[in-house]
Amino acid sequence: MSFLDPSLPAHTPTTVRALRHALIRDLGDGFAGALQEAGTASGGAMMDAFDGWCSTHGLGHPEALAISRFRAALTDFLAEAGWGHVRFVPLGEAVVAIEAEDWAEAVEAPALPHPGCFFSAGMLADLIGRVADGPMACLEVTCGAAGHPACRFLLGSPAVLTAVHERIVEGSGHEAAVRAVS
Ligand SMILES: [Zn+2]
Repeated sequence: MSFLDPSLPAHTPTTVRALRHALIRDLGDGFAGALQEAGTASGGAMMDAFDGWCSTHGLGHPEALAISRFRAALTDFLAEAGWGHVRFVPLGEAVVAIEAEDWAEAVEAPALPHPGCFFSAGMLADLIGRVADGPMACLEVTCGAAGHPACRFLLGSPAVLTAVHERIVEGSGHEAAVRAVS
């Protein structure tokens, strides 16, 4: 990782871990909403940093990249910024999954009964929404902090992800839920 690259964002995963620690201490279960809000608010700065990263790598602006190039660039950017080594998992027409075994928000996280990378969910939704056709929502369905092998984030339109979430709450696995609404 290059700490000297000025295009990398100032809010590092270390900052996010400290923020989460403080929010859990002070808000208890209310930490989730506050952390997701902070993540959403960071999307603009992340996009600026990603845009700068793409420029320094001769790629132009991220929103102009073909989807495969965009995904490859975002993968490299997130790794260099210290967030983890992600891969994109196709789950159907309406939903894309991003997952990583080493996702930074789950590293050193207290054990949680459910996925807990709320900052990342807000950040990824806002970041991807800036290059997508419309607003995006993000739902983390597996999480290293909850004992799963990887953090997996589903991204799709708010309507689609609401429908997916409802099916998961009813007991469906997330892949079956995605198939059902796609
Ligand atoms: Zn997670």
